[in-house]
Amino acid sequence: MTTRVRQSEVLRQRVHHLLPHLKEELGNLVRIPSISFPGYPEEPGREAADSVAALFRSLDRLDVRLIEMPGEPPVVFGDQPAPPGAPTVILYAHYDVQPEGDVEQWLSPPFEAVERDGRMYGRGAADDKGGIICHYGALHALGDDLAVGVKIVIDGAEEVGSPGLCRYIAENPALFAADAVIVGDGGNVACGQPTLSTSTRGLAVVDVEVETLAGPRHSGLFGGPVPDALVALSRMIATFHDARGNVAVEGLDSDQYGGLTLEKDAFVEEVGLLPGVDLIGDGTIAEHLFTRPSVSVIALEAPSFAGAANVIVPRARARISVRLAPGQDAVSAQSALVEHLESVAPWNAKLRCDRGVAMSGFCASVDGPAYSVARDALREAFGTPAVQIGRGGGMPVQAVLHRALPGAEIFQWGLDEPGAKPHAPNESADLLEFEHFTLTEALFMAGLAWTEAAGDRQGGRP
Ligand SMILES: [Zn+2]
Repeated sequence: MTTRVRQSEVLRQRVHHLLPHLKEELGNLVRIPSISFPGYPEEPGREAADSVAALFRSLDRLDVRLIEMPGEPPVVFGDQPAPPGAPTVILYAHYDVQPEGDVEQWLSPPFEAVERDGRMYGRGAADDKGGIICHYGALHALGDDLAVGVKIVIDGAEEVGSPGLCRYIAENPALFAADAVIVGDGGNVACGQPTLSTSTRGLAVVDVEVETLAGPRHSGLFGGPVPDALVALSRMIATFHDARGNVAVEGLDSDQYGGLTLEKDAFVEEVGLLPGVDLIGDGTIAEHLFTRPSVSVIALEAPSFAGAANVIVPRARARISVRLAPGQDAVSAQSALVEHLESVAPWNAKLRCDRGVAMSGFCASVDGPAYSVARDALREAFGTPAVQIGRGGGMPVQAVLHRALPGAEIFQWGLDEPGAKPHAPNESADLLEFEHFTLTEALFMAGLAWTEAAGDRQGGRP
């Protein structure tokens, strides 16, 4: 038996023995209603940040502090420098949660941690307080055997897009310098099937306003030669797709997809497509979801039914939301959409385009050394090889880390498997997944140090 195999077995046992303690700590966090949405009290966020900081401090290894973010809850940051020549790993998760939603639909109170049938129920159990405890548990299990540098980054505003942290990372890239980043906020495609999420699509939003008349005019007296702004806007909206439903906006890219395919019937059921309604676009469902753009109209300003009069509508407005191929720059995609709108506006109608959110996606390079260590760790922890999949939309902070640390390998995994119901009533964390991901992270950090040491024996890192 090699030392490495022995080390894996030791880590497996340590994680297993730690489980009662880890479950208790998860329960303690779930009980704090740290909702980051506007209008909710700030104190629970602060309490959660303090609890998370205390938890990591209790390991007696990391230098832990709170980084204050103007207008949002603080980020818990901790680091332990790498031994000479060893790599550094960022462990990211978030302590803020979604609101509880309709309390009537919860089988147990949202901010109580209740264990039932191998799952821990409560808001945030999976998304993402479980992710925090996986990081903590992995470091706890490694103890003095930890042989890589570690930085913990525990966000308090992920559910509202982490604007402060994104800015902070962009302004202080050196603080976040690392060789590998574990974003512990993903999920397996099914319980027990380890899954690496390797890309997320970006987002670009444009508001378009169309005007044709100085004000509403009687449609009987003027209708016919005079263009209706809502009809003009509708004609523009109709150009976003071809007849088969493929996006037809020039300049919106598509990327190649190399991950898991999705089964049509299961997808149709999951999304709740009404019987007989077609799925649109050529190609596979997975390509459309993960590496091709999609265009939606998410708001339309037009006269309402109440008080609708027989007039020509002088002005109409729509908000266009585009999910972008993971590799496309969001600002250039936004420009492509604006140019498209300008080119298809009929009848010389007056047009105004206002640019909204522009958030580039993320596409991991999956052939680096840390990726192969990660695949080994997942296979060993779960007993089956990992699959790769894209994500349809995602976390700004991941894309920002990717840009700030171009050399780092970024992984996303976590407890959000389909049964976890993140963001919905009765959210829960599967406790076997919880144990397996804690072990995965311990094995990953051990394996990375091991690989690094082997590299050193062969002449060191390039
Ligand atoms: Zn999350």
